[in-house]
Amino acid sequence: MRTLAIDVGGTKFTIALFDAEGRMVERESRATDREGGKDWMLAQIETLAKPWKFDRIGIGFGGPVEYDKQNVALSTHVGGWSNFPFTQYCRDTFGKPAVMDNDANVGALGEGEYGAGTGYRPLFYMTLSTGIGGGILLENGIYRGADSYAGELGHVNIRPDGPGCLCGSNGCFERMCCGLWLEKDNGKTAKELMQDDAFVDRYVVDLARGLKACIMILNPARIVIGGGISKAGDLLFVPLRRELNRQITKWSRARIDVVPATLGDDSVLYGALALAQKEIQV
Ligand SMILES: [Zn+2]
Repeated sequence: MRTLAIDVGGTKFTIALFDAEGRMVERESRATDREGGKDWMLAQIETLAKPWKFDRIGIGFGGPVEYDKQNVALSTHVGGWSNFPFTQYCRDTFGKPAVMDNDANVGALGEGEYGAGTGYRPLFYMTLSTGIGGGILLENGIYRGADSYAGELGHVNIRPDGPGCLCGSNGCFERMCCGLWLEKDNGKTAKELMQDDAFVDRYVVDLARGLKACIMILNPARIVIGGGISKAGDLLFVPLRRELNRQITKWSRARIDVVPATLGDDSVLYGALALAQKEIQV
């Protein structure tokens, strides 16, 4: 069975085709056209995927998803997505069954089944890129909570008097640590900032505050961090582990196992494959 995987992110979308053995045989990525918005992106996806042969569709969407209804709740980055039945749209357009979850949950599945989280449960996956998202993967699959909003670590408050966040609150983990705000606050890209040791030493204090909340509540076997900022590798992870060990005192025996994603830009694509494998038997 062949699977079309769709990853709609904050600044780009990517689609891939997996063959029956789970190998990626096609892959196309485009920068998001903010002017064109949703309709532009859907037309692009349709044009790119139409010539491909597949039997089912898995989707990771970069924003809150109502999993039970298979609706996009909203996108803070691109207009026009609120209450959009993306799964139904894919069924109508391609004539194949489809399933969708938010990209952090799907990324957790990808890293948990095919990447750095293989064999580690409970697994917490965090995407650290334009925004911050989180996914909780248990032995029996994604933990979504009562209303499919579990794992939204990005809007945990880590600085009570911090600056305003897009969500309307202030001092959120995402507001202090995501790529969008790092660039706005510092006038440099996150990639440039990660080369600056002094900056990273300050940055990991906030980053560890957010991750500490996760470790205290979940006691995960491993935390995998994906997204563009995680590509800094040891420049980020060595000081981050040091800071976590400082903030999480010896009072707690919870393990501190925090590693970068190994699927690079494809965590969500592999997760979309895994989601479709789990949920769609044609
Ligand atoms: Zn917020």
